[in-house]
Order: sequence, then C-alpha cells, then structure tokens
Amino acid sequence: MKGYARLAGFTLSLLMLSACGSLKKNTSENEMISRYFTFGEAIHSDYAIKHHILNYPRKSSHRNNILRTAKRMDEIRELLGRPIVITSWYRSAKINDAVGGSDSSEHREGLAVDFYLDKTNPAAEFNRIAKSGLSFDQLIFYTGGHRAHIGFRKNKRRERREVRRVSGR
Ligand SMILES: [Zn+2]
Repeated sequence: MKGYARLAGFTLSLLMLSACGSLKKNTSENEMISRYFTFGEAIHSDYAIKHHILNYPRKSSHRNNILRTAKRMDEIRELLGRPIVITSWYRSAKINDAVGGSDSSEHREGLAVDFYLDKTNPAAEFNRIAKSGLSFDQLIFYTGGHRAHIGFRKNKRRERREVRRVSGR
C-alpha cells in the first residue's frame, strides 16, 4: 500500500511536471494554459487573420515561453482584479516583421503581451502595475490610447523592471 502510494505520488508529480513545464503541439485554442488565459489568446493576431497567415509557435521553446508568460499574466490579472483584453502576445517571425515596433523581440519569443488598460483611467492602472512590486523586463504605456506592453524574461532575475511611457497608440 505504502509502495503504491509512493508510485501514485511519483506518477502524479510526473503528470504535474508535464502539465506545468511544456505546452503540447496542436494545443487547441480553447485550452486554458493558466488560471485565466487560453492558448487562443496567446496566438491571436488580427494581422494573421487579415492576411491568412498561421500564427503558430512551432518551436517548443516558444510554446514553453507562452506558458511562462501566461503564469506571469495571471499575476497581473489578479492585481487588476478584472479580465484582461489582449491585443497581441506571440508573433511569428513573419507577423513580427510586418507589424513590429521597438518592443517586438519579446513577442517573437512569446514573452511579451500587449493589452488594454482601463479606458477611463489608463494611467492610474499603468502606475498600479509599475509600482506593484511584480517583476517584468519592460512595461510600456502608449499614452495616445489605453494600451500597454509588458515583457518578461525566461530568467526572472535578469528582468530590468524598466518602465516607459511613449506617445502613440
Ligand atoms: Zn508589445
């Protein structure tokens, strides 16, 4: 019985490891990849839809980054206390080249997310994230609208916690 329990525990931890550590190929868009986010939210791209391009992370390292980022975004979601509307997360090389700005390299790796801040007072919400104590590599507020960019690194200890406000939407 004891041996069985140990074996069951071992199997369970293996299952948990696979569930936490990697994202399978052909994951469906409806599948939850963290507490609050679906895989579909990570690969959605208006540009891809418009131009009939597949925005799919073929590299397992990119899929694993998406998983990491989803967990970090859960923390942002809990801080804000409301659902987050994402405009851009993972971008394939092709899409990134087409739409890319200065913040684009982390999107290419699946490590950055663009999302909407509260429309009525985006600056207040932006400051809340900036001063929360949560880690990030880069946090950008596009002051012409209510959109923000947040980027992470695989190694959290290397994150710069850089906060920027730039014009534009
Ligand atoms: Zn961005």
